[in-house]
Amino acid sequence: MSTAALKHCYECREDWPADTEFFHRESRNTDGLAHLCKACRKQAATTYKPKNHITDSLQSLLTGLLHQGARA
Ligand SMILES: [Zn+2]
Repeated sequence: MSTAALKHCYECREDWPADTEFFHRESRNTDGLAHLCKACRKQAATTYKPKNHITDSLQSLLTGLLHQGARA
């Protein structure tokens, strides 16, 4: 069967094959795929960089604390 279903990405408004090569898995959605294609999802992630930066800082801080605790 070569009739691949297409899925519409609401961000770039393009139709992509509805599989995990173009869309991330999203079990909450009825078709099991994310609403955004992988390219748009990646772009969205870079938009939230300030938030990620804080998370990264907290992560390294926690890692440092755990490391100290393990050594003590
Ligand atoms: Zn897209």
